[in-house]
Amino acid sequence: MLAQKHFSGIGFAFVYTTEKLNSRTMIELKNVEKYHKTGFNKTYVLKNINLTIKQGEFVTIMGPSGVGKSTLLNIVGLLEPPTDGEYLFNRQPVHKFNERQRADFHKNFVGFVFQAYHLIDELTVYENIETPLLYRKDIPAKERKSLVAELLDRFQIVAKKDLFPEQLSGGQQQLVGIARAIIGKPKLLLADEPTGNLHSKQGEEIMELFRELNRDGMTIVQVTHAEKNALYGNRVIQLLDGWIEKDVAVTPDMWK
Ligand code: ADP
Ligand code: MG
Repeated sequence: MLAQKHFSGIGFAFVYTTEKLNSRTMIELKNVEKYHKTGFNKTYVLKNINLTIKQGEFVTIMGPSGVGKSTLLNIVGLLEPPTDGEYLFNRQPVHKFNERQRADFHKNFVGFVFQAYHLIDELTVYENIETPLLYRKDIPAKERKSLVAELLDRFQIVAKKDLFPEQLSGGQQQLVGIARAIIGKPKLLLADEPTGNLHSKQGEEIMELFRELNRDGMTIVQVTHAEKNALYGNRVIQLLDGWIEKDVAVTPDMWK
């Protein structure tokens, strides 16, 4: 009896330390709600969202159009506040952050691929991709140039580097948006339907790239409608009517 107790004690300690080393909680949403006021009514977008994402995860959010996927991603990226609830990032209550702290958070932790690209119209492709690095004191100009060149090359848009966003197709704008989001190797990549406007071959290449980045330690949360894209991650969260309907581990035959 005593021995058993002793061993289970060790077991617990072991589990606890590996847990601490390998799977630190990065994102914790507690009872998050989002509603819009229309007259006297509240229109709920998200209700009672409780969600924990560990560092190093690659999570896919799915669900019908209008269900709140972009809203959830925006909340995680501190682009819009929840109406209610708490958000801890690396144990910090980031829902209480002021504008300055939010700007630091964006600069230091997050890359965002927007559903509608949100490129800067007045900047060229090259300059758009370069933007996040301009805030980084640790990356000298020479390295900045080579990082941009590398991505232009990888995404096969070298010939477009001096064009402006309005001169590009939707797919090309999407690629530029992705390049801009990952160039600074953010700890957290939030990608809202990142392959929605790409050809299937390009889409696959982007997913391969995300897998590589994730293996190198980047935490990724993506929104997608494509079941095959979800297979690149480790977990799928299905939203329905503003709730988390399903939160399951990815298995190779999950869509069969
Ligand atoms: P998804 O990305 O899953 O398609 P969104 O997060 O973009 O969904 O939108 C969720 C819901 O929130 C939609 O039904 C949308 O109409 C609603 N919504 C977004 N912004 C507002 C707003 N300012 N006022 C009222 N409803 C809004
Ligand atoms: Mg959306």
